[in-house]
Amino acid sequence: FWVVFEGADGVGKTTQVELLAEYLRSDAGGGREVVTTREPGGTPLGVELRQAIMHGDHVAPRAEALLYAADRAHHIATKVRPALQDGAVVLQDRYLDSSVVYQGGARGLGDEVERISLWATEGLLPDLTIVLDMEPDSSRMSRDLDRVERETIAKAAEMRAAFLARAALDPGRYAVVDAARPVETVQGSVVVAVLEAIA
Ligand code: C5P
Ligand code: MG
Repeated sequence: FWVVFEGADGVGKTTQVELLAEYLRSDAGGGREVVTTREPGGTPLGVELRQAIMHGDHVAPRAEALLYAADRAHHIATKVRPALQDGAVVLQDRYLDSSVVYQGGARGLGDEVERISLWATEGLLPDLTIVLDMEPDSSRMSRDLDRVERETIAKAAEMRAAFLARAALDPGRYAVVDAARPVETVQGSVVVAVLEAIA
């Protein structure tokens, strides 16, 4: 079973991956085998690709999109598919929707980004994608000014809408969780969504 967390920078994806892993490994959560991972950077090659991607704003948008796709192709082939085949639960920080929203939307590369990503992964899609949703907040954003989202609150609002639109396309495979609440409350909603989907 494969769960992906999506949403803007700073909404708590990494924290929720860790908390959910802890829960699912515990007796209460079924004592499951759990693999946590992320994109970009979920493999040793991916760490190098991540460094290349984060190299600076001068990476040409199409090159950047292909570096993300290369990271993803290698990550899915060498880590995610094998873990799923072994029966593990895979919890992943970002996947295809991030590329659709950032490279496709914010960088203006459009629909082909999704096709490149599906080619890279041979069409592997998560069982559940949890969109951690929060209103963009300038005070929070200024803490971690980062690449695409550095631009403006208006851009951030567009990206938020783009994640929500992805979720609305396929409600059976997505859960939107209000991430503006306390961490433990968010985790409660995440656990409910996962247990419902995993059953
Ligand atoms: O979530 P993480 O810290 O790994 O993301 C690093 C940066 O890369 C973030 O600023 C995020 O917006 C950006 N990113 C992106 N396109 C992706 C994945 C991440 O622009 N497909
Ligand atoms: Mg994070």
